[in-house]
Parts: sequence; structure tokens; C-alpha cells
Amino acid sequence: QSLTDDVDPGAATMPLPQSDERRWSDTSAYARKKVLQSWVQLPNGNWELGKILSTSGEESVISLPEGKVIKVISETLVPANPDILDGVDDLMQLSYLNEPSVLYNLNYRYNQDMIYTKAGPVLVAVNPFKEVPLYGNRYIEAYRKKSNESPHVYAIADTAIREMIRDEVNQSIIISGESGAGKTETAKIAMQYLAALGGGSGIEYEILKTNPILEAFGNAKTLRNDNSSRFGKLIEIHFSESGKISGAQVQTFLLEKSRVVQCAEGERSYHIFYQLCAGASPGLREKLNLTSAHEFKYLGQSNCYSINGVDDAERFHSVKEALDIVHVSKEDQESVFAMLAAVLWLGNVSFTVIDNENHVEPVADESKPVQSLTGLSTVAKLIGCNINELKLSLSKRNMRVGKDTIVQKLTLPQAIDARDALAKSVYSCLFDWLVEQINKSLAVGKRRTGRSISILDIYGFESFDKNSFEQFCINYANERLQQHFNRHLFKLEQEEYIQDGIDWTRVDFEDNQDCLSLFEKKPLGLLSLLDEESTFPNGTDLTLANKLKQHLHSNSCFRGDREKLFTVVHYAGEVTYDTTGFLEKNRDLLHLDSIQLLSSCSCHLPQAFASSMLIQSEKPVVGPLYKAGGADSQRLSVATKFKGQLFQLMQRLGNTTPHFIRCIKPNNVQSPGLYEQGLVLQQLRCCGVLEVVRISRSGFPTRVSHQKFARRYGFLLVENIADKDPLSVSVAILHQFNILPEMYQVGYTKLFFRTGQIGVLEDTRNRT
Ligand code: ATP
Ligand code: MG
Repeated sequence: QSLTDDVDPGAATMPLPQSDERRWSDTSAYARKKVLQSWVQLPNGNWELGKILSTSGEESVISLPEGKVIKVISETLVPANPDILDGVDDLMQLSYLNEPSVLYNLNYRYNQDMIYTKAGPVLVAVNPFKEVPLYGNRYIEAYRKKSNESPHVYAIADTAIREMIRDEVNQSIIISGESGAGKTETAKIAMQYLAALGGGSGIEYEILKTNPILEAFGNAKTLRNDNSSRFGKLIEIHFSESGKISGAQVQTFLLEKSRVVQCAEGERSYHIFYQLCAGASPGLREKLNLTSAHEFKYLGQSNCYSINGVDDAERFHSVKEALDIVHVSKEDQESVFAMLAAVLWLGNVSFTVIDNENHVEPVADESKPVQSLTGLSTVAKLIGCNINELKLSLSKRNMRVGKDTIVQKLTLPQAIDARDALAKSVYSCLFDWLVEQINKSLAVGKRRTGRSISILDIYGFESFDKNSFEQFCINYANERLQQHFNRHLFKLEQEEYIQDGIDWTRVDFEDNQDCLSLFEKKPLGLLSLLDEESTFPNGTDLTLANKLKQHLHSNSCFRGDREKLFTVVHYAGEVTYDTTGFLEKNRDLLHLDSIQLLSSCSCHLPQAFASSMLIQSEKPVVGPLYKAGGADSQRLSVATKFKGQLFQLMQRLGNTTPHFIRCIKPNNVQSPGLYEQGLVLQQLRCCGVLEVVRISRSGFPTRVSHQKFARRYGFLLVENIADKDPLSVSVAILHQFNILPEMYQVGYTKLFFRTGQIGVLEDTRNRT
């Protein structure tokens, strides 16, 4: 029989998994109970479960499952949990909350397709990379009726709905994890549940259809994930007072624009380009002058055109259907496709040198004269501008010097930059425009009377060999979300302690405020210094790095590194950033000439894009107006804009009851059944699951009612006081076993223990 309230196997709905007999085939279940099990770290870093055969001095002799016997330093052993806790559905039920035990428990469940596990208030989801029989109406019904209570995204969504109605408080489901871990799939599974329970008006179909649209335009094949989201997303689903879905709103964050003009070998640009090339009707093809994807330079540079098991033409039809459903008219759809074709053709515009100062203009490429000319004229036709204006805007720039305007001819690299900047802007404006259309369609009922559930699907913490501006922004966002997470956990814990009359001031929690301050402090924080350097015409990535080192060297979360490198000590580990490209990416300049070109177009989409760019530059949402010299448009820097979005997001989330889901990728090859300990461990650290464990370890994570405790250990008492009340018995036990006062607290109804204390008592009990 188990001990804590939560571990009672009889109470669990799912039968507690049988212990893994293969591990200990030589010992009977009974004998195992008497054996002290321990985790041993092998030279390859993996943990193995071993039996302690003997301990003498500083060394212990351990037998491993395959019969091998080894000697290890006793101090390196990490206690293992009793077998009865194998595969528990909440990690907090583990008596020993250490890394190998957590890893083992998740692995144990994963092997049986139980991909979901709770870590206290957090749901951990391990990507199965295959279909698992856990979804669909039968399961939805079971979770709705609460006849299935094993951890699941459905259970989280169900709790969110119930708490929204019961407490009249908005809810949020915050999903994080690294690329390919399953965030987007998890978000869809949650939406599926909400749509099933809150559906009825039909609006839920529209909401579900936003997924294929946003994925077509915002997802791409990367080396990590065939369907990688290259933007962050918050979808807020509105409910009426009666609990029915009444509408929704989508907000997106930081689309990776650079992918439009450039992507790595083996990756693809956004799905929609390939879908359009593969699926457009003959009529549309002719209008857009479309050939196959192979003809476009932007798509050709990464040498990857298709994805295993994906039919782009078929997807194109689904996207069109989805656009119909969210009320994007056929005319607008055609304009959208025209913009996509314009971006592709822009990539085929090439330049030729016209004078001895290396100035260029877009002309026919000698080798493929027809095609290059077609590029320029097709772009002009598709966006509805004069071909000469287009030529000018790609080869010259108006510069304001004092009161005068001078015309500067562009060199080849400058012209390529101008062309690519235009392509990136058109694409990102198109993306924003689509989101706006979706929002118009989903904002039915306008009057928002009820409550909402928001689902956040946002890039997790990233740490690569080389980390650039994107990782810098993403990790900053994660630092903010982590603080939100910590504070929420702290609040939950505190509430429970107070309820049971426990002195919670004895519990310390760490915070990541220092790291956040490193980013946000004004004027000497990472973001301010970056913006300042971005406004200096002579600023370079190296001067930026030096400036950061000069001002921040004494900050404990910062470390200057050689040349353009600097290191930030994040909650999830240290990350070294390379400032190469930081200034350019942060400035994200689009020349005024390009905006003017778009506003001169006869088609309505480019016009709309031009005005949204101007609005963006004239009305800063937050922070100082950012100016980058000359005639370039005044805009907010990318980092400042992102920070503003993030503050807004945190404010919105701050008014909700959060539910956290952490997605874990068990291997890097997207294949089922493969569980790599090291990889999982690193993610558990990064996404804060071990942090939950650590936080609760700094508190009193094990809770046992006085009755249960007295019943289980009462017989060990030397003095016979079994007839006394459970509280007195409990206290007597604690004294008899010399449990140190800082290791427990006595509440009104329960005993609260530090991690591992119960394990000690259990061992004693088992030996008796
Ligand atoms: P990114 O940050 O790159 O967008 P992500 O965390 O959103 O990554 P997903 O696209 O959701 O990752 O998942 C990657 C792949 O993993 C999916 O395409 C799917 O094949 C598989 N997968 C994820 N979750 C599940 C699941 N619950 N059941 C089956 N397969 C899944
Ligand atoms: Mg995704």
C-alpha cells in the first residue's frame, strides 16, 4: 500500500502500470522491497537503476540490471523510488524528486503510449511522433464526464472551461517547448476539445480553420521539424455567458521574415509558396505567370522542394477552402496569390553593373534574358505599378541631406538588399493582413459579454552553437514567461500553505528578475543599449558588443566574451550570443522609396501594406521613436516592438488563470519509440519542469494527512500511544525518528515534508 494521498493506486482511474519485470527478473517482488535501489550515472551520462549490494567507506558496490557489478563513489548515488511508484501520473508523487527519477518515470509512461504526465500543476507532453489512440469524440466525452482522469490536454482544457465558468475569470493555456516538441499539435488538440464543448453556433469551425491558414503562411519545413511554426501565436477564444463559443481573436508574434529570401540547405520557405506553385489552376497560373517552384530563385537556393508524405497541391485546395470559411472573398484570395507570386518573381529580378562605380540597375540576365525581364515586368503587373518606378526603387535611393534631397545610385549589394527587403516586407504585411481578415471574421457578435480562454503557442527557449538576434528575442520572451510561471506556482503553493496554517515564509523561491532586469533596465540594459547603437549611423556589431561589455560587465547575469560574443545567464542555462547581424535585424529598414512605390500601386493590397507601414512608423506603441538617419522611415526597432508586444501579452495573461503545458521532444530524428535521456533532461531543465521540481523542493512537496501517516507508521512507535489522536501519533513518530524540525511542518490536516523524507521513513518501515 502506498503512502501519500495522491499515490493511492486504488484511487487512480488508470491501472497503475506493472513494474518492469525485465529489470529485476532475478528477484521476486517481495525481495525487491527490501533492497535499496539507487540511480547510477554511467560514463555516457545516462542513468541506470542499480541495487546497492554494500557500502564501505566512501565507496558502494552496485549491481546493474544486466548482472554487472560496479564500484562507485557513494556520494554520486541518487536515491531511487520504491517500485510501487513506477509510472505515477504525477511526478510530485515521487518520494525522491530527482532528475533520474523524473526521467525514468516519463520514459516508463512513454513506453506505454502514456505521453502525458503531470508535474504538479504542469502538464508534460512527450511527443510520440506517431498516432496514439488518445483523441477523438470518445475521449472527449470521457474527459467531459470525468470518467477518465489520466493526465491529458483534454483534462487541461476541461479544467480551463470549468474554472472560467466557476470563477468568472479568463483562462490561458500556455504551451512551450523546443522546435518539434509538439506545441502546435497540442494547441490544436486543446482547441478541438474547446470546440467540442463550446460549439454549436458554427463559429467553432471557423476557429479551427484558422490553423491550416496560419500554418500555410507561417510554417515551413526546417531541419528540426517538417511543419515548424516560424511565428508565435496567441488565440483568444471567447465564450458567451452560457459557455458557448462566441468568437475568437488571433495575435501573432515575430514572424521570421528572412526565410522568404533565404533559407538553409534542406529547409523550405513558407509552405504556401510550394502549395501555390503545385496547386494553382491553369487560369490562375496564367494570370500570375506561374511556373513550377523550381523556376524561382528564392525557392531554389535550399535544394528542397517537397516534404515526405505531404501533397502540396492538395494542401492548396484545403487552404482555399479554409479562406472561404473565414470569409476571405475570392477576389481577395486572388490578390493574396498575386502578392505571393510578386514576391517570388521579385527574387528572380537580377541586376547588371552600369558604370565603373559598380552601380547597377535591374535588367535582363545575359544567360536567361527572357526570364529576368519577365521578373521585373511580372512584379510590376502583379502589384500594379509602373515598371520604371519599380526599376528606380530597386536601383536608386533618395537621401535627405539637410534640406536637400539627393539621389544615390545603389551598388549591387545595396540593390539586392533593397529587393530582398521589399520582398520580406510584402510577405510580412501579407501575413499581418491575413490575420486581420481572420480576426474580422471571428469577431462575430462584437459585443463581448462572457469570458475567454487563450492558447499561447510560442517558441521555447533556444540555445544553439551559434545564437543570433532571433534567439536573443525568443529567450527574452521565455525569460518573461518563466517569471509568470514562477510567480503563479509560488502563489499556488502559498495558498495551500496558508490554508493549512503553515508558515510559508520558511519557503524560499527563486526568481529570474535579475536576468529580466539585464534585458529591460533603462538606460543600461541589453535592449536599451541595442537600440541606442542601432540609431548610430556608424554603429557596427562590434561596437555594439563592446558597448554591452563596457556597461554590463559587472552584472551577474552577463559575461563579456571575445570579439562580438557575449553570454547571458538565463534561467535555463547560459547562452552565448553572436552580435553579427544584430543591428541590421533590429533596424529592419525599409527604405521610404519602397513604401512610396507600394502606395503608388493600383492594387489594393500593396496600398494597404504601404499605409500600415507608415502607421507603424508614425505611431509607436511603446518606447521611444526610433530613427535611423537619412531618409529612411522612422520606425520602432524590432526589439522594442517585440518588447511592447510582450508586455501587452503579459498584461493579458496576468488577468487569467494560467495552465501550463510543456512539450518534450524525445529524440532529434522525429521517430517514434526513441527516448534519449540526455535530450529529454536538457529540455526538462529548459522548460522549467525541473524548476517546478526545484521550487517544490525548496518548499514542502510531500503532503500526508495525519490519519494516513499515523496508520502507516504508528506500529513503529516504541511507546504505545496508538489510541491517541492521529496528530499526536504523527508528532510522536516524527520525534522518535529524529526527523529534523526544518524537514517538516505540521498543518491543520496534513504533515508537510521536504523532499525525500518519506523515503527515509519508508526504508525504515520496509526493513522492520
Ligand atoms: P515548432 O516550434 O517548430 O513549431 P512544435 O513544437 O509546434 O514545433 P509540432 O509541429 O506541434 O511541433 O509537432 C511536430 C510533429 O510532431 C508534428 O508534425 C507531428 O508529426 C508530431 N506530433 C506532435 N504532437 C503529436 C501528438 N500529440 N500525436 C502525434 N504526433 C504528434
Ligand atoms: Mg509549431
